Amino acid sequence: MNNPILDFRSDTVTKPTPGMLEAMMMAKVGDDVFGEDETVIALERKLAATFNMEAGLFCPSGTMTNQIGIKCFTQPMDEVICDQTAHVYRYEIGGIAYHSAASVRLLYGERGILTPELIEPEINEDNIHYPNSSLVVLENTVNKGGGSCYTLAQIAPIHHLCNIKGLKLHLDGARIFNALVATGDKAIDYGQYFDGISVCLSKGLGAPVGSVLLGSKETIKKARKIRKAFGGGMRQAGFLAAAGIYALDHHVVRLKEDHDHAKALAEALAKSKYVKSVMRVETNIVVFEVGTGQAQKIVHHFKEKGLLCNTTSANTIRLVTHLNLTPAMIDRAIEIILHL
Ligand SMILES: *Cc1c(COP(=O)(O)O)cnc(C)c1O
Repeated sequence: MNNPILDFRSDTVTKPTPGMLEAMMMAKVGDDVFGEDETVIALERKLAATFNMEAGLFCPSGTMTNQIGIKCFTQPMDEVICDQTAHVYRYEIGGIAYHSAASVRLLYGERGILTPELIEPEINEDNIHYPNSSLVVLENTVNKGGGSCYTLAQIAPIHHLCNIKGLKLHLDGARIFNALVATGDKAIDYGQYFDGISVCLSKGLGAPVGSVLLGSKETIKKARKIRKAFGGGMRQAGFLAAAGIYALDHHVVRLKEDHDHAKALAEALAKSKYVKSVMRVETNIVVFEVGTGQAQKIVHHFKEKGLLCNTTSANTIRLVTHLNLTPAMIDRAIEIILHL
């Protein structure tokens, strides 16, 4: 019997389900650059309403929604404040410098989680030598933090600080629904705290393509123009937006299953001799530590047994759960972990 490949490399590897493909094929579409794709418009309105924001903009990737958001909220020579693990800083190819001509102030949060106490001293005072601190970017969940998450109770005082200091606040919510499921916070309560929110449909939600930037009507009007300049104006994109709508309707409630799977994997890892430590699992990401220089070798041994995952450093490995991993596949993965 052939065992299926167990792909834990990322929650981006999912393939559309039959129901999602059906929804895509049935989509009513039009030219979205002309503002005539009713399915794209429906997705943008649906997500905006979900987060209590005024408007949304459908983009091909989360990198694009983040970078457009940052460009909307900064001027050249401004400074963006974020954690040193932030996707917008580490994994978007220096886009903040390239697209927005802004500098970045890096903070060192616990598992990527920032606090007002960390942020406040790093906001520049008005001085001819200093860049203007204009934007704080939070990530929820924190990818490099091993899927750690903010509660709204932690976000509210950061918003308050930004508000009194005149800074904008942007959320890289690539995995915001994982955070909502884990914390029990409500999406509808988010809008009041953020000037911009980027939501990925192609991570845990399982759509093939797409992210949405949320903001005020004015922000999204500006963002729409920047998207065109980035070459991100799409035509009959409703086929893709339909996958996003389907994902929001069907794949949010099941995220808890991914989190439970991640916890089960972490328990198995904690029992394994080759594992030195396992980061506390909060959502769908498991990061664990092995002996110095051993990570690559262990990933290779896993691969020989049909379990795919990636190193995150010379002695850390990451597993990510998602909707294409069934309970039976998790059981099989646990066996592989326990008997490596
Ligand atoms: C995946 C991801 C993004 C967006 O990535 P794209 O591949 O461009 O869609 C942004 N932020 C975080 C934290 C991510 O994990």
